[in-house]
Amino acid sequence: MNLVVLLLTLITMSFVKITSTKKSRLNNIDFANLGFGEIFSDHMLICDFKKGEWGIPEIVPFEPMSMMPSAKIFHYGQSIFEGMKAYKDDKLNTWLFRPEENFNRLNKSAVRLAIPKIPKEIFFDGMTELLKIDNEWIPKTTGCSLYIRPIIFAIGDGFHASPSDEYRFLIATAPSGLYYTKKVKVLIEEKFSRAANGGVGYAKAGGNYAGQFYPTQLAINKGYDQIIWTDDNSHEYIEEAGSMNIFIRIDDKLITAPTSDRILDGVTRKSIIKLAENEGIPVEIRKVKVNQLIDAFNKGSLKEIFGAGTAAVISPISEFGFRKKDYTLPKIKDSYSEKLKKMMTDIQFNRTKDPFGWLYKVC
Ligand SMILES: *Cc1c(COP(=O)(O)O)cnc(C)c1O
Repeated sequence: MNLVVLLLTLITMSFVKITSTKKSRLNNIDFANLGFGEIFSDHMLICDFKKGEWGIPEIVPFEPMSMMPSAKIFHYGQSIFEGMKAYKDDKLNTWLFRPEENFNRLNKSAVRLAIPKIPKEIFFDGMTELLKIDNEWIPKTTGCSLYIRPIIFAIGDGFHASPSDEYRFLIATAPSGLYYTKKVKVLIEEKFSRAANGGVGYAKAGGNYAGQFYPTQLAINKGYDQIIWTDDNSHEYIEEAGSMNIFIRIDDKLITAPTSDRILDGVTRKSIIKLAENEGIPVEIRKVKVNQLIDAFNKGSLKEIFGAGTAAVISPISEFGFRKKDYTLPKIKDSYSEKLKKMMTDIQFNRTKDPFGWLYKVC
């Protein structure tokens, strides 16, 4: 550690080195009209892995970075990510929701992609310092939040099809508005698969999303918004909704598929299960066949289908297509989706008691 770093460490009382932007872009941002992940905050966190170890995390201005054209990320897609949010409550305190889950999952993804694990202090201290320096970027408007995107990718170069020896951990953030919650029309997919047994479906690997784009585009061309993924083997079982976990309500039961190699262990999914159970809603974690869904629809017992993920929290599905036929769900009062979304966001924005200790105070 050189003297400058040592001094900075003492000043900031953390080991994150900070280089502030000379010109903040904060005043040019229209916080009343935020989209999702389109505007980026002034700073980002960077920490590089070289010669077998993670270096000192640095906060630097958010700007283009230079990499070798031979960097392995470009050739072999060795990269993983997380998605989480920072929330401001009425008193302007800053909170994270179950960040430990994202930290653990990032390292689970790292292992699967042969990427070195990120130490806990770098993840937490780096994120905390970044949220402090860009605190004004966290929207104060009800329902808006700061989307946080931690990534790790291979920066070491070489055409060798082998793991990189150098990596970059980076956190970028984006103030985000209310996620578009138009009800979605989905297509049950029977040809393409999102994931397979033994594959990388349980990891948040960048390439998993690349593989979803083409089938999703085909569904969009047919007039749908998203795909419902079925299992890769029989295509009989419902697995995920686009890049969200899926919940199905039949009569008063809430059903979701068990996590597996193919089904990602979402933080929103596991939180919804807990909240629903706590409310006395019967929850079943089991596989659901497409034909069971159609049967329930025909009997009138299929009440709701919704996706669950950090970005939208809960995204209700109004209609699904299967084998050239469309099925429109009935409109219902007292939907689980609205009730559970309110319960989740009330905890996230610290508007209610947090019975499970899910909130993490940043500052
Ligand atoms: C990230 C992700 C989810 C949702 O996970 P959350 O932790 O709830 O945001 C669900 N499915 C896939 C495929 C994902 O990549």
